[in-house]
Amino acid sequence: MLYHSTRSRAVQADSAQAVLQGLSPDGGLYVPAAMPRLDVAACLAAPSAQAMAEQILTAFLPDIPDMAALVRRAYAGKFETEELTPTAAAGAFTVTELFRGPTSAFKDVALCMLPQLLSQARRALGVQEEILVLTATSGDTGKAALRGFQDVPGVKICVFYPHGGVSSIQRAQMVTQPGKNVSVFAIRGNFDDAQTGVKAIFAACPEGKLGNTRLSSANSINIGRLVPQITYYFKTYQDLLRRGTVAMGEEVNFAVPTGNFGNILAGYLSKQLGLPVGKLLCASNANNVLTDFLTTGVYDRRRSLRRTISPSMDILVSSNLERLLYFMSSDAQVREWMRQLHSQGFYTLPKEILHTIQQDFYGGFCQDSQAMAVIRRVWERQGYLLDPHTAAAWAVAEEYQAAAGDQRPLAVLATASPYKFPAAVLEALGETPSRNAFANLEALRRKTGIPIPENLAAVERLPERHTAVIEKAEMLTQVQGLCR
Ligand SMILES: *Cc1c(COP(=O)(O)O)cnc(C)c1O
Repeated sequence: MLYHSTRSRAVQADSAQAVLQGLSPDGGLYVPAAMPRLDVAACLAAPSAQAMAEQILTAFLPDIPDMAALVRRAYAGKFETEELTPTAAAGAFTVTELFRGPTSAFKDVALCMLPQLLSQARRALGVQEEILVLTATSGDTGKAALRGFQDVPGVKICVFYPHGGVSSIQRAQMVTQPGKNVSVFAIRGNFDDAQTGVKAIFAACPEGKLGNTRLSSANSINIGRLVPQITYYFKTYQDLLRRGTVAMGEEVNFAVPTGNFGNILAGYLSKQLGLPVGKLLCASNANNVLTDFLTTGVYDRRRSLRRTISPSMDILVSSNLERLLYFMSSDAQVREWMRQLHSQGFYTLPKEILHTIQQDFYGGFCQDSQAMAVIRRVWERQGYLLDPHTAAAWAVAEEYQAAAGDQRPLAVLATASPYKFPAAVLEALGETPSRNAFANLEALRRKTGIPIPENLAAVERLPERHTAVIEKAEMLTQVQGLCR
């Protein structure tokens, strides 16, 4: 199936090549030339989440053979439940729990699948070289990628994180990672230094090769990370049908904690495929670039990044938005907007395009203090414990319903276990967190009675394997060492 770049329809790839390359050579993102066909009724009747994923992945990535086996290898026995992303009723809302995977992060849904897709695309295209996946992380992506790529044949993974810049639990999760093909380095610098260092390594390697190794990325720009996320929109709808909350064809709204715009774009693709999706509520924290954009049509990154209690949403340039812009306009137009964003720091949509986007999307944001209040209120009234990212989406959902008077059923996507952010959650519940992250896990368990996810509890007992702290100038040398 044909894919091309958001910045030039002339830059083309089939679906296996698009997954293998990640980013298109002109800096654009790969999009399907035409929306694939999916039998929505058949997909909603699928007997399992895996069967559903297989149908969706096959529709988008037909050049990657043997999808059923890949899906099984990616998910079987890895999640807390074979439903993968179960739903729970909480007050007036349905919560879709995207955090039941092996690292308790929403990123697991995609990062369990991507390694299988990448490895199979490599085989299908007859690529001989090994692949090295380079990842800069501010926390969540690193562990989910390490876990997903652990011992996948033909692929190695190397993660860089800022020394002192991730939570102690996130650090412990990464440095204890087993596997013959994994490397983890702390760098002296911040997340931007890590990301810049990774980009510099790509730039230093002509045609993405270093010796006999091909470089790739686990970043959410890869179409192979986006497509697996469509499944949970279908799965949520199937649950609501089975529970009788909706009749077939009735629309459901989704509230989505948003950073890079990948989570919510999967919802837009679901709607394009024919799933009855109503409004997609794009929830941000104090870094509210997307709220402004969806309200005014001006995307303006000329502001400084704020640190919040929902760090996975601390972001100024949401890379997957480029795909939405492409669906709304043309390759030449996207190229021009991206040029303006790069050179002057902002671009402005014409009114007609803004209005079209507003048919499908609503933007809202939530300050930390409000997220804390929501965590406490939802725990006290509904007995459901939200993490800070999900709390932001919950707040935006309430605000939207009150403002728009839209009473269609609403699902809030829950993107992290509250146990990944125990200090903020304890504080929201009126407790004083300790400086020891593992003590906070235990305190939160005593307070709420909710079991600590096994993978997080286990981290405290595992040996540390990756303790190297390096200068940022050493990143290339370390990567060269891995490519020998
Ligand atoms: C990555 C992440 C998000 C944002 O998802 P995007 O696809 O980047 O929009 C939200 N919440 C959590 C906990 C995440 O890890």
